Amino acid sequence: MNIYVAYTGGTIGMVDSEQGLVPDPDFAQAVEIMLQDDYPNDNMTVYCYEHLIDSSNARPEDWQIIAQDIQSNWHKYDAFMVLHGTDTMAYSAAALFYCFQAPTKPIVVTGSQIPLFKTRSDARNNMLGAIEALKNGPNGVFLFFAGRLIEGNRAHKAHTTELAAFASPNAPLRGWLGIDWQWSQDVNASDKQKTDISIPNMTSGAVTILPVFPGVSADHWKGLLNSTNLKGAVLLSYGAGNAPDKDQALLGLLKTATDNDVVIVNVSQCGSGRVVAGAYAAGSALVKAGVISGKDMTYEAAFVKLHFLSGLGLSAKEIKLAFDKTLALDT
Ligand code: ASP
Repeated sequence: MNIYVAYTGGTIGMVDSEQGLVPDPDFAQAVEIMLQDDYPNDNMTVYCYEHLIDSSNARPEDWQIIAQDIQSNWHKYDAFMVLHGTDTMAYSAAALFYCFQAPTKPIVVTGSQIPLFKTRSDARNNMLGAIEALKNGPNGVFLFFAGRLIEGNRAHKAHTTELAAFASPNAPLRGWLGIDWQWSQDVNASDKQKTDISIPNMTSGAVTILPVFPGVSADHWKGLLNSTNLKGAVLLSYGAGNAPDKDQALLGLLKTATDNDVVIVNVSQCGSGRVVAGAYAAGSALVKAGVISGKDMTYEAAFVKLHFLSGLGLSAKEIKLAFDKTLALDT
């Protein structure tokens, strides 16, 4: 198998510096030698990005760079692994998921909590597990971490320090790796022949996140909704999709934004479970203000999907419809 590995930065390849951990450009070559040694019958190419980043600096434009890199290598390789920082890995995995829409080859994003060259690092296990997923698992876009293979649009960084840092709060794992793989679905389920890749311009500032908290007022959100090229917002609601319904200024602000074609998607800050639009009066007020339900999506996936759809140039009406429909296993 010809495997392309994109090293984008992140803890996995970091080394100590006076400022703390920083990405190491020499890491790519060391990984290529290591992987080639472990898999002598496969061809491993590890490409080191010119600007290695701590993924907390990642912007939507960086998702595009990764997607375009994979696209330009699509016909040369059978499978793709992206080495990425954990902080925004769930966003990048979701971006690849939308750009590659149920591809005919596997793409797996991974990283580690401890750098490869530190004692007790989880990097080697995560990389080898990701390779095993590429070689034996389904086609599609996934995040692999600590034995868990998670659908690319379903991952959430759920722990800061545990090695099992990622969860799939509302969807079964696609696979888990112990001594052997266990798959939740048939690995060869799809007979799709062709991959439709669309990589729109996803630009910083086109989507925002509106936090709901006790005492939240219109003033808190005004700045967030003020940006001129704003196309969408993820509203992080309470429980099953609730927010204060007695504050007319707050609801008015949402209504003005949705009237001006900003698509606002309601996702619960509970972290797992589904938004049930209108179950409570406090949720119905949001529906009246034009806010749509993100159902059981993670806020990361909702944020990226808004970027993706608005980047495609869809109108607010079309974006709302696309949120209602299942976009490749979406909700
Ligand atoms: N801050 C790092 C990053 O996201 C953390 C990590 O990789 O685990 O790049």
